[in-house]
Amino acid sequence: MKILVVGGVAGGASVAARARRIDENAEVIMFERGPNVSFSNCCLPFHLSGIIPNSDDLVMMTPEAFASKYNIDARTNQEVIAINPAAKTVKIRKVLTGEEYEENYDKLALSPGANAIRPKSIEGIDNDNVFVVKNVVDIKKLQAYIEAHSVKEVAVIGAGFIGIEVCENLVDAGIKVHLVEATDQVLTPLDFDMAQLLHKELYDHGVDMLLNERLTAIKDGEVVLASGKQVNAELVVMSIGVSPETTLAKACGIELGQTGGILVNHNYQTNYPDIYAVGDVVEVTHKLTGDKTLLAMAGPAQRQARAAADHMFGALHSNRGVIGSSCIHVFDLNVANTGINEKMCQKKGYSYDIAYTLLGDKVKLMPEANPIFFKLIYEVPTGKILGAQAIGKGNVDKRIDVIATMIYMGGTLDDLKELELCYSPYFGTAKDVVNYTALVALNIMHQAVKQVPVTAVRELVESNAVIIDVREKPEWDNGHIINAINIPMSEFRQRLDEIPKDVPVYLHCRSSQRSYNVIRALQTLGWNNVYNIAGSFLGVCLYEYFLDQTTDRAKIVTAYNFK
Ligand SMILES: Cc1cc2nc3c(=O)[nH]c(=O)nc-3n(C[C@H](O)[C@H](O)[C@H](O)COP(=O)(O)OP(=O)(O)OC[C@H]3O[C@@H](n4cnc5c(N)ncnc54)[C@H](O)[C@@H]3O)c2cc1C
Repeated sequence: MKILVVGGVAGGASVAARARRIDENAEVIMFERGPNVSFSNCCLPFHLSGIIPNSDDLVMMTPEAFASKYNIDARTNQEVIAINPAAKTVKIRKVLTGEEYEENYDKLALSPGANAIRPKSIEGIDNDNVFVVKNVVDIKKLQAYIEAHSVKEVAVIGAGFIGIEVCENLVDAGIKVHLVEATDQVLTPLDFDMAQLLHKELYDHGVDMLLNERLTAIKDGEVVLASGKQVNAELVVMSIGVSPETTLAKACGIELGQTGGILVNHNYQTNYPDIYAVGDVVEVTHKLTGDKTLLAMAGPAQRQARAAADHMFGALHSNRGVIGSSCIHVFDLNVANTGINEKMCQKKGYSYDIAYTLLGDKVKLMPEANPIFFKLIYEVPTGKILGAQAIGKGNVDKRIDVIATMIYMGGTLDDLKELELCYSPYFGTAKDVVNYTALVALNIMHQAVKQVPVTAVRELVESNAVIIDVREKPEWDNGHIINAINIPMSEFRQRLDEIPKDVPVYLHCRSSQRSYNVIRALQTLGWNNVYNIAGSFLGVCLYEYFLDQTTDRAKIVTAYNFK
């Protein structure tokens, strides 16, 4: 068996290594047009802050190591420029010399990745101070420019995963960053409400957040945005997304899917059965929605690579699609999400609901215990879990991984409620955030309690709705919602006559737990029109903060209280 692999990083190197593990006799040749194989794309931004001081450390395997340890022939600086599926050959050009030659194959795997988008319509896009972050060469060039020009001010265009990581690492290196994003929020896999926490975090770390703004031109020392705004920037990092690298595929008649990625079957075969494709270049199927989509993530690329290599040797693969689990570090916060978000549920017309919780990531008495902001999305009335988003200083990825597992197993709120997870105060709480959130969701789904989200509070305040704050007086004095009434939990039984029965009443505390308890009591005492403000006061403060800082709208809290 002779296997050729195009692309020598996440997907390509994994195909090659798996093929070698399956068949010691196979001939495996891997072509990489860049100078490095098997580098860590995901660690590239961390070189900018010095977390990874030496850029050479980003390269995890050399061609020599591939040869000596795995008997894989890794050919760097060699670009595959054409495929002839009928003859089962590829044409290769040596990048440094221009020399061309051919190799034949029994099986061919394509893992050429995706290209960073650099729209030609943007004036100045090809200037030498405009960078992308895709590989080790890019990050070395970017870092060298920063050092050579003592760069102090940068525009990062696009606030997706790469943009945010580049931004954070530049700020950590002492550089002023203007973060330009065309939509109204960073990290679109999150819902707008959750993204507000990150807007606050970025803002508080001095990032100039320019939301709803598009780059139109790059000029000497500044960038121009569609609104006409001009921002000082000695260099520009483009991170507005990637598009699958399909040049080779298109030229030889490999079919593309509706998203522009290579169309593959469940074993990652293209329309030519001996040609496989994996990684950022392929179109994948979303497990929950069934939609065709693109997903540029390392985990799926590696899983697909293994499946493709297995199939070359006759093993079948059970392809379950993707759910889009991801995590990222944003200054002092960790952020993770999986499955589908609320925006997507609305777009698809799903019958769904959400549960928010704001609980400790470990027992409060323990050092470094911090709240986790957790949003669970589930189908109604089945309770099937559809997605979750979590933000906090602690282990949010662990919680989201539990939800991702649930989604893969078709789990429901009842499954999540019963899920037995490990516990000691150092790691969590006896009833973990995920178990607890399932209980909240079940209460909502079974109509034991009604809720409104923090996003609705401004309207409630403006319409003079009855809002009752059940926190204790000292907490109220440190900041409260304008127009709210303070009836502390410790006093409400003596002050029932102050709570109207004829109009809706909205209760909150700091995190929704005390208000939930008061609501249960009121319901048994005959109040039928009471709502918990999910996310409560802390959620309102976080949700409102960034927009309050950056617009001149009226505040709905007397003072923020983030404790
Ligand atoms: C800065 C950054 C941070 C990231 N962080 C994360 C993260 O935290 N988590 C996560 O899950 N994912 C992350 N990713 C995404 C992840 O790295 C990719 O999804 C993954 O590398 C895709 O693997 P791939 O093999 O499809 O493509 P790549 O790893 O990009 O490899 C493709 C290779 O093919 C080569 N190539 C293309 N065409 C040819 C040709 N014709 N001939 C020879 N060689 C060719 C290219 O030069 C390239 O090196 C990050 C990506 C970047 C850039």
